[in-house]
Amino acid sequence: MTPDVRDRTDRPASIGRLPGEGGCPIPESSWDRALRLIGQADEVALACHVNPDGDALGSMLAVAFVLRSMGKRVVASFGDRIFAVPRLLGFLPGQEMLVPPEEYPAAPDLMIVFDCSTFERVGLLGANAASAREVIVVDHHPSNTGFGTLDLIDADAAATAMLAEQLVYRLGGRLDRDIATCLYAGLVTDTGSFRYSSTTPAVHQMAARLVATGLRTDEIARELWDRSPFGYLKVLANALERVTLEGRLVWTYVSRVDRAAYGLPYSELEGIIDIVRRADEAEVAVVLKEDDHGDWQVSTRSKGTVDVAAVCAALGGGGHHNAAGYTSYETVEETMAKFRRELRRVS
Ligand code: AMP
Ligand code: MN
Ligand code: MN
Repeated sequence: MTPDVRDRTDRPASIGRLPGEGGCPIPESSWDRALRLIGQADEVALACHVNPDGDALGSMLAVAFVLRSMGKRVVASFGDRIFAVPRLLGFLPGQEMLVPPEEYPAAPDLMIVFDCSTFERVGLLGANAASAREVIVVDHHPSNTGFGTLDLIDADAAATAMLAEQLVYRLGGRLDRDIATCLYAGLVTDTGSFRYSSTTPAVHQMAARLVATGLRTDEIARELWDRSPFGYLKVLANALERVTLEGRLVWTYVSRVDRAAYGLPYSELEGIIDIVRRADEAEVAVVLKEDDHGDWQVSTRSKGTVDVAAVCAALGGGGHHNAAGYTSYETVEETMAKFRRELRRVS
């Protein structure tokens, strides 16, 4: 019998409501089935979304640690054509469990996919997922309609890390510092350091459990937000030089030529949207980031009145009401023309 979190005597008194308890849309029967599938598997193949952020990679690695401690063979990956952990997530423990997509099992018995709002976000590992016997989808995107053979989706959770924490407990695992570091990376990333409206009491309660393991939250914050290569300042300056305010839309772009001048990796651009969205006059902020393949990754943010997830969904992407994105294969001008059109339609 796999222990149930509610029966565990070592559950911290301060645990409060876990996602999944009291009104959460994930039924107990789904958790039970997940535990059964994992219990039966000798090998578990984990995946998270392409261009992984702290929530995707952190949730996946946290669960990887627990599965490994249960004696499972574990592989973990994400389906990017250029397989590299972003520098700012380099501090996450457990990266020895990562394998590039070409070394991933072609048809896993059991695959668990984290923080992927759509099947497309599984990227190159989509073929592996399509051939897998069972696929468990662990996610918190409201737009996720469920593409697994078993879906553990809670659109009210601030981060997939909240569901990953619950999976850790339900598998009988204990929070140690490594697991807590991974989960904390997910929680702080997706709540914007506990600033977004998704930051509920349950989020702070989870943070308390994680911090109690001895986390250096100051060091994690510095790794995630307070350091960059010098070239970032130059690329940022360039992006801000051409930032444009059009009514209630503020936007800019960063090309790969801009980055090449300073040898700046694509993943260093993640924070630019947080600077651009400061403009008081704007309701919606957009940053177009050209990746190493020449495709434009479009980051969008709303202050609340506009549902950017709806705009991005219409353009082939998705996300959350206030933070969403998509990929564009057109020029900056064409991309923005289509974005403006969809924005007008939605708002
Ligand atoms: P980002 O701007 O990269 O921080 O992404 C914000 C949100 O948009 C994320 O939580 C993702 O769920 C979503 N998102 C970003 N890029 C894409 C994409 N290409 N397709 C679908 N969803 C995306
Ligand atoms: Mn994510
Ligand atoms: Mn997430």
